[in-house]
Amino acid sequence: MKNSGIAAALLGLLCLAGSSAVFAQVKGVYWTTSGMFGPFPITGLIPTVPKDRQRDVTIPVSMWIIDHPKGLVVFDTGNNVAVSDGNCKSYWAAGLCDFLKPSQKRSDVIDEQLKKVGFSADKVKVVITSHTHLDHVGNIAMFPNAIHVFQKKELYQGWWPEKFQGRSTPGTFVMGDIMPAREFNYLELDGDYDLFGDGSVLILSTPGHTLGHQSVKIKLASGGSIIMSQDAIWMQENLDGYPAGLNYSVQAYTNSVNRLKFMRDLEGAQLFMAHDQDQYAAKGGRWYK
Ligand SMILES: [Zn+2]
Repeated sequence: MKNSGIAAALLGLLCLAGSSAVFAQVKGVYWTTSGMFGPFPITGLIPTVPKDRQRDVTIPVSMWIIDHPKGLVVFDTGNNVAVSDGNCKSYWAAGLCDFLKPSQKRSDVIDEQLKKVGFSADKVKVVITSHTHLDHVGNIAMFPNAIHVFQKKELYQGWWPEKFQGRSTPGTFVMGDIMPAREFNYLELDGDYDLFGDGSVLILSTPGHTLGHQSVKIKLASGGSIIMSQDAIWMQENLDGYPAGLNYSVQAYTNSVNRLKFMRDLEGAQLFMAHDQDQYAAKGGRWYK
């Protein structure tokens, strides 16, 4: 009797210890953009879009701020600050500037976006980067004291992209983005990862667009989940079966699109895409809690 009483007390303590993890919930997730790209024809990105759905698009360059009790997290840092205020050609290849038409203002850059919602860049504990393309890894150098989370393969890709992905720099990979960050602290992953060990911020391996692309899934305090695909899924047309026109592996890309789609459907999660004009217009620039 006495023993079972002790056992019950111990069990109670264990339950309490377990529940503390439940309370370490994400306080909020803010969706913002590093200016816009466009307008340009959608077929410049997705060549197989059929005639009746072809149009010019002006797309966001999605970045995310995740407020977690164990640390402030940024997911993707947008276009390099040097691209701001019409100075694109001083930093990116002229052809990319002409095609993408970035409209980034200095106030759109991640450090200013953090300020806008009450944080300073030096308070960021973790920077997760989906992949090493110019519109996602652009400002990691602004976070010298953060832990930088990449798939290890993506670091290989960033430093030495295959020729067909554009090895010349500046191209879609810009050495100036990663060079100043070479000696930073890197958490180098090979697959999925539970960032704070409480299931609230899950990093999902979603290769295909690049060799080591990754997405993030967040469990919100309200109970719902959101998936930030970043470039695993650019926009609605990709969900509708028209593949992105820029891929390291179309097979891996297709698997990743399907993985996130099924996750959305089975879990009832919201799926947010990196570059969807209509979705950002309806749901961007706000907190999710
Ligand atoms: Zn992108």
